[in-house]
Amino acid sequence: MIDLKSMTLEEMGAYLKTGGEPAFRAKQIFTWLHRGAGSFEEMTNLSKALREKLAAECLITRPQVARKQVSALDGTTKYLWRLEDGNCIETVLMRYHHGNTVCISSQVGCRMGCAFCASTLGGKVRDLTPAEMLDQVLFTGLDSGVPISNIVLMGIGEPLDNFDTVLRFLELVNHPEGLNIGMRHISLSTCGLADQIDKLADYKLQLTLSVSLHAPDDETRSHIMPVNRAVGVERLFAACRRYFETTGRRISYEYAMIDGVNDSDWQADLLARHLKGTPGHVNLIPLNEVKESPLKPSRRVAAFQKRLESHGITVTVRRKLGGDIDASCGQLRRKAMQEG
Ligand code: SAH
Repeated sequence: MIDLKSMTLEEMGAYLKTGGEPAFRAKQIFTWLHRGAGSFEEMTNLSKALREKLAAECLITRPQVARKQVSALDGTTKYLWRLEDGNCIETVLMRYHHGNTVCISSQVGCRMGCAFCASTLGGKVRDLTPAEMLDQVLFTGLDSGVPISNIVLMGIGEPLDNFDTVLRFLELVNHPEGLNIGMRHISLSTCGLADQIDKLADYKLQLTLSVSLHAPDDETRSHIMPVNRAVGVERLFAACRRYFETTGRRISYEYAMIDGVNDSDWQADLLARHLKGTPGHVNLIPLNEVKESPLKPSRRVAAFQKRLESHGITVTVRRKLGGDIDASCGQLRRKAMQEG
């Protein structure tokens, strides 16, 4: 079956042309799919014959709500979606003053192995398709009834490990005939795959790149993030500098504060040294405890922030949302898997 929703408008046009349909039909179908249409039958501006042909040859993905948890504290909503093949992924809807943000997954599971992250505990099952990424934005908007203005690729999975799909998703979600979400309203978070950061830079997208740094020295970083053994801090920062020079976009460095692991003053000093000369800012994240992990939240967040600021670094501390609903990476999927 053909997955039309994963196609660009041009590809859809080419597919329709083989059946003798005019190009403007592609636009009609594209619009229907990007509004969340669940069947070809609903596409009433297409002929019955075309609708039947499409239904015979194509599928329309539509995730089912497997679980939904709404935070009583701040309205943060976490969706556990069941995909066509039974796999589950998570999407989080966060309500901010500057707009509603969805945090979406890019893979079923993850193979990066970060010691503090629940998403990676069962490894990677498979990559998501462009349609499955788009569906998270579409159906979170439709189910919650709130308009979505921002997207962060910070859910389950490593986006740059599913590179082509993620690029296509960005093209689709940014499309004027679709959801039309501007690149400046999109953030992509990576554990730091340096080669892929280089590759991404060449597209000169105006999105925000977040790098999950979590430690400024190789010993600590390799200990908590196995990916660092192949990349290394020097190479990662070199890629970040090139990224800024190519795109003109400041990088945001994510830093989850872990007790006794990455929260010393010397690490703040080293981090500041790495960042010298490249504009960027540091986002300190209070660690969310994962019950399978011995790592504990740091008690030095404010001190670490001060130390960084003393070097002239811009630092923010992430506000915790959805603390009552397993809202951080992979926790709800994990729970559902354990409960069968
Ligand atoms: N693979 C991508 C995106 C998914 S993780 C990446 O690594 O960036 C999204 C962010 O949540 C990353 O910064 C990740 O390091 C962080 N994170 C994962 N588990 C966490 C935890 N238990 N507490 C705080 N932050 C966590």
